[in-house]
Amino acid sequence: MTVNQDVILPGATLGVMGGGQLGRMFVHAAQAMGYRTAVLDADASSPAGLVSHEHIQTAYLDEAGLARLAQVSAAITTEFENVPAQALDKLAETRLVAPAGRAVAICQDRAREKAHFVGCGVDCAPHALIDTPEQLAAVSDDLLPGILKTARLGYDGKGQIRVKTRAELIAAWDELQRVGCVLEKMLPLAYEVSVIVARGRDGQVVHFPLQQNLHRDGILAVTTVPAPNVTEAVSQQAYASAHQIAASMDYVGVLCIEFFVLQDGRIVANEMAPRPHNSGHHTIDACDVSQFELQVRAMTGLPLVEPVLHSPCLMLNLLGDLWFPNGVSAQQEPDWAAVLALSGTHLHLYGKAEARKGRKMGHLTVTGATPAAAREVALKAAAILGIAPF
Ligand code: ATP
Ligand code: MG
Repeated sequence: MTVNQDVILPGATLGVMGGGQLGRMFVHAAQAMGYRTAVLDADASSPAGLVSHEHIQTAYLDEAGLARLAQVSAAITTEFENVPAQALDKLAETRLVAPAGRAVAICQDRAREKAHFVGCGVDCAPHALIDTPEQLAAVSDDLLPGILKTARLGYDGKGQIRVKTRAELIAAWDELQRVGCVLEKMLPLAYEVSVIVARGRDGQVVHFPLQQNLHRDGILAVTTVPAPNVTEAVSQQAYASAHQIAASMDYVGVLCIEFFVLQDGRIVANEMAPRPHNSGHHTIDACDVSQFELQVRAMTGLPLVEPVLHSPCLMLNLLGDLWFPNGVSAQQEPDWAAVLALSGTHLHLYGKAEARKGRKMGHLTVTGATPAAAREVALKAAAILGIAPF
């Protein structure tokens, strides 16, 4: 069966694999434009399932679930990069799927991802693949100190161990159950930045202004746009790399590339996500088109436009830790009223009932007339919420 490539107009149903907060914000954007939505996620209370017209509560590889999603959807996307690529391939037999399973498969595997960067002429951290004890033994001393990362299924700093010595490396691989890993050299980072691009079915690529990202404990904490410390030359190089990386996968949809800016000013690619990204949540409130709307436009074949940042902003992630101030044991709601009394604050909560440490419960975007004004309000909001200053 040939997959229909016509423009999919509002009124049609858009499907999404995965029911997390990225799916929820995608559903919001799609519904605002008049689409219906269907979410496939096994969790009865998933953030996206709660707000979708239809919620198919099955596992990603459940045949009946996939058949139902394909039946109701005119096109299907993913909000979770670890959706099995074979599930996307199955859906693609009868429906337009964006991004395609083969692009998602590259992003799911750090080894393939790095090979793709290198193939595009984009620098990444010096690294070695470790699948066998022989490869472990053959690792060059140049890669130490380094970070051992599982090749698959890592996120928010999970599945990574920092190692200084060969003995620590051996112990770390044991701790990671000797699964396939990538050992990366520890690089002297000056800043972390990311670029979000959207690529249409016709090959047009647009990008959001570069974001500067602060991570704490391996989890994104604060995103600032415009990126305060990044030169025009570094930004242009990041944009060019991101366009190239998307085009060479024949990618359709929103793609985020994370980069490290090193202390010597060089820029290297870290990893990519085949979907909207946490570092792009500010686009809802600070840009004239959001990353989620661009995902809708890319998959439906509607025109893409070059996004414009209309307000300088900061985005603060609201982790579950904030529900347990001063070490209290019973979960308590942060003081939203005090935060919302500050002008320029935009609160987004994902509808997750249970707060846990490190769990992404929501985010707060602060927009201002100037970068300094936005930062001042963001620091006030952070103080109210118990987020350490940045
Ligand atoms: P994400 O939630 O973005 O998917 P992740 O768990 O996949 O995160 P990475 O992005 O690989 O992990 O690493 C998390 C953080 O660890 C980075 O943002 C960076 O701060 C630090 N880090 C990772 N690799 C290196 C490196 N080679 N040198 C220095 N710091 C690094
Ligand atoms: Mg990362």
